[in-house]
Amino acid sequence: MSKVKYYYDQETLSYRKIEVKKGKKIRNFFVFLLAAFLFGMIGLFTLLNTGLVNTPKELSTTRELKQYELQFEILNKKMEQMEKVLTDIEERDNNIYRLYFEASPIPEEQRRAGFGGVNRYQALEGFDNSQIIKNTTRRLEILQKQMVVQSKSLDEITKLAENKEKLLATIPAIQPVNNKDLKRMASGFGWRTDPFTKARKMHWGMDFSASRGTPVYATGDGVVKRSDNKAAGYGNHIRIEHGFGYESLYAHLSKYNVRKGQKVKRGDLIGYVGSTGRSEAPHLHYEVFKDGQRINPINFYYGSLTPAEYEELLHVASQENQSLD
Ligand SMILES: [Zn+2]
Repeated sequence: MSKVKYYYDQETLSYRKIEVKKGKKIRNFFVFLLAAFLFGMIGLFTLLNTGLVNTPKELSTTRELKQYELQFEILNKKMEQMEKVLTDIEERDNNIYRLYFEASPIPEEQRRAGFGGVNRYQALEGFDNSQIIKNTTRRLEILQKQMVVQSKSLDEITKLAENKEKLLATIPAIQPVNNKDLKRMASGFGWRTDPFTKARKMHWGMDFSASRGTPVYATGDGVVKRSDNKAAGYGNHIRIEHGFGYESLYAHLSKYNVRKGQKVKRGDLIGYVGSTGRSEAPHLHYEVFKDGQRINPINFYYGSLTPAEYEELLHVASQENQSLD
């Protein structure tokens, strides 16, 4: 309620009411309204700035951010699973595959190298969500690096496996004469009595006693290096080069079934037992070379014999009897 205001009228010598003009009244009302509006606006802006009240746009942005955070969490869960799978593969890689193919395990530092030192994630800093984005990025990059190392390791193992397969096919790993064709295992590798001079002499191979014409087989994949009778004492003989430093020799043959330069597979029929050269009776003299040195062939028969047969062979071959040469 507006107060009634009076003034002293000197002409009438009395107090008279001040009459406010109608126009002025209306103006005052608008001034009040404007002031109220301004104060209201200032108040609203203050509230908005303190964050106590959100605009619809802000509300949707907040919802979106929450959604992103959720997605990052899901991504991290998935990465955790991938990390577990990859760690499992790495363990198998180090402890089985690389071990089996005689490759040294890849050390842990090498699998996860290159993530220390300088801050690689500087560009991601300075935001509210910096930490979660930095962690996720880092995790992803480590995974990426681990995968590259793992993939390279598997490439290497594939190569080793191919070689191993070749090696297993090439080494002279069976008996050169069929077990049922053996009359007896005549003599083994080591010191034996020379059948001609009766003197003690190193016998560099194994003698398989068998009748003339008994088939002789290649003991591993390879190439025929020679098949002739131009080496002293061996008579008609075949020499096969297997690769990886291995060679095998078959002596005193009656007939050849292969020529020089011919490729052979393990088990191929290459010739027939005879008694040519420095030989006392029909038999196969068999030698195995590794890097030019003659080694005991008996160590290679595990592929074609049962344990009992192998033991029998071992027993006979170690007897210091007279060789057939
Ligand atoms: Zn011999």
